[in-house]
Amino acid sequence: MLVRFSKRLMQLITRLFPALSYLDPASEAAFRCHLVNSARQGTARLALVCIILMLVFSLTDILLGDDWLSLSNSARYLAALSVALYLGLSRHLSGENWLQGWLAVSALAILLLAVTFYASARYYGRLGEGGPLVVAFAIAAIPIFHLQQKLLLWALLLSSVAFIKYCTATDTGWSLFYLFITITLCLSWQRQYDKLLRSQYKAVRLEQQKAETDQLTGLLNRRSFEQRLAEKLAGLKPGEQLSLGLLDIDYFKRYNDHYGHLDGDLVLVNVARLLSATPDWLVVRFGGEEFILIEQHALHQPTRLLQLPAQLAKLALPHHSSPFGVVTASIGVVTLGGQATLLTSGELMQQADKLLYQAKQQGRNRACSQQL
Ligand code: GH3
Ligand code: MG
Ligand code: MG
Repeated sequence: MLVRFSKRLMQLITRLFPALSYLDPASEAAFRCHLVNSARQGTARLALVCIILMLVFSLTDILLGDDWLSLSNSARYLAALSVALYLGLSRHLSGENWLQGWLAVSALAILLLAVTFYASARYYGRLGEGGPLVVAFAIAAIPIFHLQQKLLLWALLLSSVAFIKYCTATDTGWSLFYLFITITLCLSWQRQYDKLLRSQYKAVRLEQQKAETDQLTGLLNRRSFEQRLAEKLAGLKPGEQLSLGLLDIDYFKRYNDHYGHLDGDLVLVNVARLLSATPDWLVVRFGGEEFILIEQHALHQPTRLLQLPAQLAKLALPHHSSPFGVVTASIGVVTLGGQATLLTSGELMQQADKLLYQAKQQGRNRACSQQL
């Protein structure tokens, strides 16, 4: 019944404050199941410590002359029993149900401990142990709850703290004890939160890297190219120029037909390795057997991109169905100095493509270049 009640209450809060939902319902449910499954053991251990604490406090009260079945002791037994029963009986519950049940039990325990606290404060005329346990329970339970659920527990906690304020006079020792428990629990909470944030950040970074990388060669893919070229163009200083090369492997279809696609892939990997050997070049696999290279160099310096066809031929990767006998490539290179930076990346690419076409027309295995 309690489970159903807390579920209803959560639905009501979610309906009233829809902005408190971070994910769509299905993803939220999957995420929370994952969270609960990873937090179940830790929560059970902590609950066990709370049960033992409650019983120890009862025992000391009895030794100090309190009745076995006084109001404070009975409320404590009930709280301990409900937690223990829940731990025993909830093993086979699904993640979401377990969480709802745990919320209900936490709320019940907080209420019972508030009663304990109130009763023992009246009995002794000063603060008992109820407060710290209320704090302990509520805060310890928090990492696996979402905001709506935390609000509920915090409201309960607030009313319990109001008891402390209005029904007893706290002394320094107890205040320090509260403070210690609260800080310890906040630390553990913060640690989980930090870990969660970092693992999320790592996952986002990994996704970003995957989206920008070509799987076969490990080079950047076309997606990330436009933005990087625009950055390079914008960052070009006076006295510097930028060369953009479009490189295409010659007779590659024939290579695939002769050696098979897997060997073709190996050629792509080898070419990619050659291209990325110069650390300050930006190298992109534009698609298929075409690559884009960007070099930033001084005005008086010729671009080294023009040497690439000769360097590739020197690797002497056999290609029997090419007139050259080895794998070769053609490249079209446009170079622009400070004044020409008003060109868009699209216009640059068009120009490089024209030059590549020229290189192919002139017999392949060569570079064609133009200074803008
Ligand atoms: P050209 O000298 O005029 O450039 O001739 P080509 O055969 O290289 O050019 P074409 O554009 O006709 O063929 C490109 C070939 O590249 C066709 C396709 O099978 C091959 N190719 C594209 N992507 C891949 C890939 O990822 N792996 C392999 N093995 N082959 C690929
Ligand atoms: Mg091609
Ligand atoms: Mg080709």
